Amino acid sequence: MRSRYDVVIIGGGVHGLATAYYLARNHGITNVAILEKSYIGSGGSGRNTAIVRSNYLTPEGSRFYDRSVKLYEGLAEDLNFNVMFEQRGHMTLAHNDSSLRTMRWRAEVNKLQGIDSSVISPAYVKELAPYLDVSDHPRYPILGALWHPPGGIIRHDAVVWGYARGASALGVHIHQETELTGIDVDGGKVVGVQTSRGPIATGTVINCTAGWSSLIAAMAGVRLPITTRPLQAAVTEPVKQFLHPVIVSGSLHTYVSQTARGELVFGASVDPFASYSTRGSLEFTTGLATHVLELMPSLTNMRLLRQWAGLCDMTPDFGPIIGPTEVDGFHVDVGWGTYGFKAGPVAGESVADMVANGRPGELIAPFGLDRFEKGTLTAEKGAAAVGH
Ligand SMILES: Cc1cc2nc3c(=O)[nH]c(=O)nc-3n(C[C@H](O)[C@H](O)[C@H](O)COP(=O)(O)OP(=O)(O)OC[C@H]3O[C@@H](n4cnc5c(N)ncnc54)[C@H](O)[C@@H]3O)c2cc1C
Repeated sequence: MRSRYDVVIIGGGVHGLATAYYLARNHGITNVAILEKSYIGSGGSGRNTAIVRSNYLTPEGSRFYDRSVKLYEGLAEDLNFNVMFEQRGHMTLAHNDSSLRTMRWRAEVNKLQGIDSSVISPAYVKELAPYLDVSDHPRYPILGALWHPPGGIIRHDAVVWGYARGASALGVHIHQETELTGIDVDGGKVVGVQTSRGPIATGTVINCTAGWSSLIAAMAGVRLPITTRPLQAAVTEPVKQFLHPVIVSGSLHTYVSQTARGELVFGASVDPFASYSTRGSLEFTTGLATHVLELMPSLTNMRLLRQWAGLCDMTPDFGPIIGPTEVDGFHVDVGWGTYGFKAGPVAGESVADMVANGRPGELIAPFGLDRFEKGTLTAEKGAAAVGH
């Protein structure tokens, strides 16, 4: 570990690693350290359900995430690492008139941004996912869906390892088992950090710690409008391929996809309380099973293999917080809630650009910390909550 770095990034998840990679590759800034208190990918980046999509509700949201989908499409080639991106299509079911109205709204916003997204009929839903019951028998009948063909799933660990290898090859230092314990601020400016392995002098610190981000910001004296909530997920034993697209039901608080190995991966919305615990709960499993079976009764005999939890940094408007803070040299790339894995590439590219050029670019300008003072919130909840 050097005694001085030009840039110190806190957090070895997809955001920290991608930022370091693009700082080195796009801007030639290589005297960069990533501090990770555990191992890379040990946070949300190794615990998510790996859904990638860009069919958000607001123009600024969908534009931003669409750049990420484009970067993901070229990532295996860029990093020379197979990230197993499968664009299987992403389907959000509408079970009532108001959901259908929101789907139409989202589809129109998406189309104006050039994103492939449209509302489809129950008959087409059945064609794409034959195991869904589209009759009027279920308690929550399927009235239609928002269909987004470029969406899909990716191998999250491979993305983390690929960015880490790429950044490391360009000269970035990745320090695992190295915990940030303090941030030194002098006259309103960052001058260094304290770690479990000693101090480092630096003028630039980037906070990429998701579920821990408000604790890290507090070390610099910065308050973030973030609460940390656990989010759980579960996976079944593998079965023969039968489910191609990713299926989301907001009304039933659940979503499901099938991995290349045949396992079904299920997720839901965040636990209804703030906590730093990553323990799974029986309440989650029973609730999840009930909702999944309402959607696909034929899964009755499937066995769950595993469940787990990760920490999510929730903002009031379900939008991220990216940009400078009132402390000169202290930047944040946080507020990723339940939906930030897909944003890793675009956030990394944009934050690297901001640090190199000294100002936030067009894609991230709407997500600044000052929006909570100005009242210019992003209103993404309708498209971000369960859909991730
Ligand atoms: C169950 C679950 C399902 C999800 N599903 C999806 C999905 O399908 N699609 C999607 O886009 N997103 C999803 N997410 C959200 C996504 O995982 C996160 O938003 C994303 O991974 C955040 O990445 P990150 O790099 O910012 O943070 P993380 O990957 O959480 O990394 C932060 C790192 O900071 C480190 N750290 C913390 N404190 C310190 C310290 N003091 N010193 C040094 N290091 C520190 C941690 O150890 C951690 O490794 C899901 C999340 C969960 C939990």
